[in-house]
Amino acid sequence: MNEESTVSLLITNARIVTSTDDYIADVYCEHETITRIAKGISPASCAAGTEVIDANGKLLFPGFIDPHVHVYLPFMGTYAKDTWETASRAALVGGTTTLIEMICPGKGDEPLGAFDTWLGKARGASACDFSFHMGVTRWDAQAEAQLREIVSRGIRSFKVFLAYKGALGVDDRELYHALKLARELGVVVTAHCENETLIAEKQAELLAAGRREPRWHEISRPASVEAAGVAHLMAFAEQTGAEVYIVHTSCEDAVLAAQRGISRGVRAHIETVIPYLTLDSTYAEKAGDNGFEGAKYVMSPPIRDRRHQDFLWDALRARTIATVATDHAPFDYKGQKEMGRFPGSDFTRIPNGIPSVEHRVDLLYTHGVATGRIDLHTFVDAASTRAARIFGLKNKGIIAVGADADLVIYDPAHRGVISAKTHHMATDYSGWEGWELKGRSSVVTVRGRVMVRDGRFVGDTKHGRLVPRS
Ligand SMILES: [Zn+2]
Repeated sequence: MNEESTVSLLITNARIVTSTDDYIADVYCEHETITRIAKGISPASCAAGTEVIDANGKLLFPGFIDPHVHVYLPFMGTYAKDTWETASRAALVGGTTTLIEMICPGKGDEPLGAFDTWLGKARGASACDFSFHMGVTRWDAQAEAQLREIVSRGIRSFKVFLAYKGALGVDDRELYHALKLARELGVVVTAHCENETLIAEKQAELLAAGRREPRWHEISRPASVEAAGVAHLMAFAEQTGAEVYIVHTSCEDAVLAAQRGISRGVRAHIETVIPYLTLDSTYAEKAGDNGFEGAKYVMSPPIRDRRHQDFLWDALRARTIATVATDHAPFDYKGQKEMGRFPGSDFTRIPNGIPSVEHRVDLLYTHGVATGRIDLHTFVDAASTRAARIFGLKNKGIIAVGADADLVIYDPAHRGVISAKTHHMATDYSGWEGWELKGRSSVVTVRGRVMVRDGRFVGDTKHGRLVPRS
C-alpha cells in the first residue's frame, strides 16, 4: 500500500451543505474516500495518525467541479498561458477539485493523437483531478474509429464548435454524424453555439467601417447570433436523439432557444460561466490604455448588456441553468491580448478568454449566495453536483460514504480582494482586479489529501489523476 492511500482525516463539527442537505456532522476519510459520516466520531476510533481538522463555524462542501476549462490551448496563433501545474494550483486554492478540459484538435489532426497530447500535458502534472471533453473537428472513417476508441478509454463527452469555422468548427454534416455517434455511445455532446456566417459578415462590415477597437467584439456577435446557434443545435439534437450541453450561455435569447428545444423533448443542459454572471458589456468598453483595456474582457460569446446578467441569475435560481463553469482560457494582456491592438490590428485578433478558474467559486458565493440571489443548495448543485451527474463523475460532487474525499471547508467570514499580484494563475491580469470577496476555501482536499490549508496551496502537483467516468 503506498503512502498516499493510508492518509486518514477527520473533519469535526462541520456544517455539511450539499445540493440537497444541510446538517452538522463529522466526516471521516480513509484510503481516498469518505468512510463515515456521523455526529461525535471519536478520534480514538480512527486510524493511528489521523489528522483532525475542526470545521466549527465553517461550511463543508463537496469539492467543486469546473466542467469547462482550457489549459493547453493553441489558439489564434498563440498558446494559453497556464500549465497544468499553475491551473490546477489556482483551481484548488479556489476550491475546485476537478477540472474537465476541452481537447481542441486542429481540423487536420487525428483525434487519438490529440487525445494523447492533451492527456500527456495533464498526467503527472496536475494537483487536482481531471477529465476531458473530446473535441470533434472533422468527420471521416478514421476520425470515427478513433473517437470510438477514445470513448472506450473513459471519455464520455464530445465538444463541437458551431463557431470558428475553418479552424475548430464543424459543418452540418460533421455535426450530424458526431451527434449520431454520441447517441449510439451514450456520450454527451457539449457545444459552442454561435452562427459563424453572421459573425464573419458582421466582422467584415465593422472592419470596413474602421471599427477596430475591443468594444466592437460584442457588436460583431450579438445575442441573436448566439440564439441562432442554439436553435440550430436543438434541431440537430432533436433529429439525432443525442444528449447535448450548451456551453457558456451568455444571454436571455440563447437560454430561451434552448428551452424551446427542451420543451420539444430535446435532452439539453444549459451552462453559463462566471464572467457572464458578474461582468457586463461596459467592461469591454473600458477606455484605459488608449481604448484597448477592454481587450481583457474579450471572450466568445461576449459579455453582454446588464439586463442579460439579471436574467441569467434568475434562470440559475430557477435551475433552468444547470451549471456555472468558467471557460477559463488564460492569455496575458501584454503580448497576447495585444495581438489585437488597433490601429495596426483589430478586435478579431484578440485571443479570446478571461482567466477565471481560481475565482469562480468565490465570485459565485459572493455575488450569488451572500447577496441572496441563490441559496446554498443551488450554489453547490451548479458549481459541483450537477456537472458530476451530467458527465458521469460518479464519486464526485457529493458528500456520502463511498464518495471520493474531495472536500472544501469554506470560511464565509473571510474577506479578500482579487488581484493579479496575488493570484495563482499564470496570467498577468485579472478581469476582477480589486473586487472584494466574501468567503474563501480555507481547507481543500483531493481524495483525502489536504491540498490547501488556510487558503494556501500545500499539495503536490502530481496528485491529480484522470477520473473514471460512467
Ligand atoms: Zn471554451
